Order: sequence, then C-alpha cells, then structure tokens
Amino acid sequence: MSNHESNHRARKRFGQNFLHDQHVIARIVKAITPREGQVLVEIGPGKGAITQPLLEACSQLTTIEIDRDLAAILRSRFAEYPGFRLIEQDVLEFDFASLNAPPGSLRILGNLPYNISTPLLFHLLRYHHLIADMVFMLQLEVVDRLAAQPGDPEYGRLSVMMQYHCKVEKLFKVPATAFVPQPKVESAIVKLTPWRPLPHPAANVDTFATVVRTAFNQRRKTIRNTLKNLLSSEQLANLELDLSLRPENLSLADYVRIAAILDQKSGVM
Ligand code: SAM
Repeated sequence: MSNHESNHRARKRFGQNFLHDQHVIARIVKAITPREGQVLVEIGPGKGAITQPLLEACSQLTTIEIDRDLAAILRSRFAEYPGFRLIEQDVLEFDFASLNAPPGSLRILGNLPYNISTPLLFHLLRYHHLIADMVFMLQLEVVDRLAAQPGDPEYGRLSVMMQYHCKVEKLFKVPATAFVPQPKVESAIVKLTPWRPLPHPAANVDTFATVVRTAFNQRRKTIRNTLKNLLSSEQLANLELDLSLRPENLSLADYVRIAAILDQKSGVM
C-alpha cells in the first residue's frame, strides 16, 4: 500500500467504508463469479479492494468513482491493467446507456455508498433492459426492504418496485468488522436479476409506479382511503380486494391489477 493510499481519510459524505477482510472480499467475488468477456461495471471502487480480484478474473472492468483523490490512487494502482477504465463521476448522474453495451449484458456491482443507496437503486432500475444482474453490498436494513414480502414490516415502495423488475436474492450478511472505518450498521450482499420476461407486467409502468407511490405515501391508511383519489368507488368495488387492507398487505400482482384498472380509465391499452 502506498503512502498516498494509506493517508486517504475516509469521507463520510461519500459513504466511505473500505473493505479489508480478505475472506469477505473473496466471498463477494465468488458471488459475482466474473468471467472473461462479461461487461462488468463497479460502482464506488474506493481503493480497489474488490477491483483487484475482479481485474484478475476479467480483464475488462469499468469503474465509476466520485472521489478525485481515490480516482488518483486507482489510476496509479491499476496502471498496468489496460482493461481498467475509470469514470470520475457521480453515479447518480451517470447514463449507463452511454456504455453502448448490448441489451441484458451489464453486470453491475459494488460495495455501495449507503447514503445514496435508495436513489441509486431507482436510478439503476431505469436501465433494467441493459442489465444482466447486479450484486451489491448494502445496509442490511435496505436488503431486508428489497426482499420483503406483503405483511413484513419492511415491505414498502422499494420492495414492490424492485420486485416488479428483478428477482431479489439476499445472499449473506457481512459484519461491521470487515470494514475500515466500521459502519454503525450491519451489511449484507444482495443479488438483483432483472426478470425476462416480467412475471407481472403492467401495461404502463408509470401508472403502476404512481399507484405504488400513492399507496405507500400513507401506509397506515386503508387502501379504500389511499386509492380514493385515483379510482372511483365503482372501480374500487371492481378490484375485488378487501378495501380495509393496508398498502403493506397488497402483493405486487395486486398493484399491477390496480394500475390496469386505472389504465382502462385513461384509455391506455
Ligand atoms: N469498493 C470500496 C471497498 O469496498 O472498499 C469502497 C466502498 S465505499 C462503501 C463506497 C465508495 O463509493 C467510495 O469509494 C465512495 O467514494 C464512492 N461513492 C460515493 N458516492 C458516490 C457517487 N455518488 N458516485 C460514485 N461513487 C461514489
């Protein structure tokens, strides 16, 4: 490790917790199983803890890092790897379509900055058609929200929107001791694989997203109350759902059905 590298002070505003546990790093790389020829993109390479073993396994790797000091460390550390590419940018503003990758080919991974994880997951969902899969380290609580089922306390907008687009697999937990500095929360690895085809396709995904957002904006209310601004009482009756249920009790298929009724109303086929 160079002086420059060891002198880098972790920046809280960039959610920097660097992995240093080689056993955990090896487990993450195994979960990714990188192969030569795949289109790999790492978000937040940091000092290169996962980058190094990935580059050993798969000579082409694109990374996206916001911190200029870390970018300088990475450029010098991986100077000998011609397939290493670094994009110095805020990933929330990065257009993944600009990579010109074939549909369904991107393998996106990273030990994500926890402070932007929810907006980042929604940003990535816009590119679901380009993505083969995603393997991320996230705060355990966020992984539990991604994987939650109706009735679970963590079930919400993030669960429904992610499960609409992706199969969600919680792989394993990672203790805080695996990082420097140690985060105050537990972490876990999750694998997200875009469905092809979608199990519950909506005619109009924007309508579906509006229904889900509207419902969970007031998650304590009954769906009779949360949906009354979107649907007439006749349409509500046609849903054949118990209207005294709360948003957290409805399945993905229920939300798609509600969106279909709204689309009929506005003439979207
Ligand atoms: N991959 C490294 C590791 O495992 O040791 C670092 C992980 S650290 C949790 C998160 C990384 O994401 C940091 O390198 C941080 O600078 C970077 N980062 C934070 N916000 C970012 C953003 N908006 N766009 C791109 N990278 C970002």
